Amino acid sequence: MIIQLEPSIAEPQKTSVVDAVKKIGYKPKHVATQYGDYVVCIGKKDFDIRTIGSLAGVRDVHYVSDEYQLVSSKWKVGKTAIDLGDGVKLGDGHFQIMAGPCSIESEEQVRKTVQHLQSCGVRVMRGGVFKPRSSPYAFRGMGIEGLKMFSAICRESGIKVITEVMEPAQIQPMYDYIDVYQVGARNSQNFNLLDELGRVDKPVMIKRGISGTIEELLYSAEYVFAGGNERLLLCERGIRTYEKASRNTFDINAVPILKEKTHLPVIVDPSHAIGIREYVEPVALAGVMAGADGIIIEIHEKPEEAASDGAQTLNFEESERLFRKIREVVALQERW
Ligand code: PEP
Ligand code: MN
Repeated sequence: MIIQLEPSIAEPQKTSVVDAVKKIGYKPKHVATQYGDYVVCIGKKDFDIRTIGSLAGVRDVHYVSDEYQLVSSKWKVGKTAIDLGDGVKLGDGHFQIMAGPCSIESEEQVRKTVQHLQSCGVRVMRGGVFKPRSSPYAFRGMGIEGLKMFSAICRESGIKVITEVMEPAQIQPMYDYIDVYQVGARNSQNFNLLDELGRVDKPVMIKRGISGTIEELLYSAEYVFAGGNERLLLCERGIRTYEKASRNTFDINAVPILKEKTHLPVIVDPSHAIGIREYVEPVALAGVMAGADGIIIEIHEKPEEAASDGAQTLNFEESERLFRKIREVVALQERW
């Protein structure tokens, strides 16, 4: 059960609400986010909802039959849109393309990519500076100095920045230079990181774990929301299965299922989902067709020379063609 409190509620009234739900037998947790004050009540009790609904400072009371609560679509009217500013919105009818290299490598690379994105009308650039790599000998990113350079060039050009955060200690140093924190598949259930991201007021995109279930992804988002940050995006990036013909298996089922289960925007990452450059396009278009609210794609001027994930990275020409096709599919869906 979720109790939505009035913004003007006074502390003693909050205490009365919490005491009242405890008396009924619920375990309450007070959650204050950028947009609202909630009491999440864990448990299942049979009681007259008016005893809570009529308390001073209560705006609304919602029964939520799912185990996760705040991210569930069962209480919120409509979908959530994440506003990155300057007209860049994601979700609730706002589709965004996010693209860029797997790793930020140099100033020249960032400048060329930004120019390319601008010429294609793409408003959000991706690029890792802290890279989770399977091998400790692989390129592990340019770190915070690389992020400062990446961010400065994007800011000059009106492009928003999404990049991966790997540990709680990186959150504050990154804060001024990013627009969206990305939680990678390997950190999808790093609960300390998720707790800490609940304390910041910038959007967080959580990727599905390498072998994570849809429910686990929703719980990861619930951690951040319950920590106080409701500006969340979920990302399907493929899961590990017995199939060896592709890097991962794109779980297209996850798109409509997530769209039904949560009010949060759903993003697809076809690059990591299939891991093979030639097939990124059909997988990307399928994800959009399935109802994704946005897409994140790896691109590089010379994929063969990319410091990481070159095999799944599109060159500028391929990406320009794909962006065009994606927009056609989005327009087709809007017509439907
Ligand atoms: C990435 O986005 O480059 C990345 C490492 O993705 P994932 O966490 O999905 O593997
Ligand atoms: Mn990558």
